[in-house]
Amino acid sequence: ILQSAGYIEYETDPDARARLKFLLGRDELYKLYETTPNEEAVISALLRNYSGLFSDYRYVEEALISQVSGLSQNEVYLILKSLSHRRILHFIPQRKTPFITYTQDRIDGCDVVIPASVYDQRKEQFIKHVNAIEAYATNNHVCRSRQLLRYFDETKSEDCGICDVCVDHQPNPNAEQEFKDAKQAILDLLADHKPHDIKETSELLLPRKAFKEALKYLCNEELVHIDGLLIYR
Ligand SMILES: [Zn+2]
Repeated sequence: ILQSAGYIEYETDPDARARLKFLLGRDELYKLYETTPNEEAVISALLRNYSGLFSDYRYVEEALISQVSGLSQNEVYLILKSLSHRRILHFIPQRKTPFITYTQDRIDGCDVVIPASVYDQRKEQFIKHVNAIEAYATNNHVCRSRQLLRYFDETKSEDCGICDVCVDHQPNPNAEQEFKDAKQAILDLLADHKPHDIKETSELLLPRKAFKEALKYLCNEELVHIDGLLIYR
């Protein structure tokens, strides 16, 4: 994404070969006396297989040096690092990770300026998200699962059959009886003709749909009255 936007250049296969150059001259190199036999093996493998190492950086293959010196590739690597550390040569190991070039100046986080257009765009996007969440919560006609899938542009889906919308729309053979029972339960609760907290109705544990319909019916018929949070006959 960053690359297509032109922010960086990303190379997975850069010139990843190892490079090195001797920092000491040939004569000085022969006068070194604090080198181990393994180090000498690596140095002589380098000198026998590559030319120009004293004048410039040359590409070297750790695998080849390993083969010629009879040491493992890891030993070769560690020896080259050590020789580099002691300034006998300068070794640039092969890169194993992808390579990223910033095409623009790197700016400290605190100096980053977000243009108004980008800010507006983000705000618009955020409003869209919030609206989508609100629609999901308030749309009681379309299966929740389908609403979710539709948000992600999947239109060929079927009702899930288990969400609240689906359950509400399923034909219920007991609906008539549940409606009657709910009506009676509400009337019984309010039989004392005193105001009750509307929360008490939830203690009746009636099926949600039947309760809603019964309450609506009783209010329309003016058999029950709701005043704020109070309900009474
Ligand atoms: Zn559903």
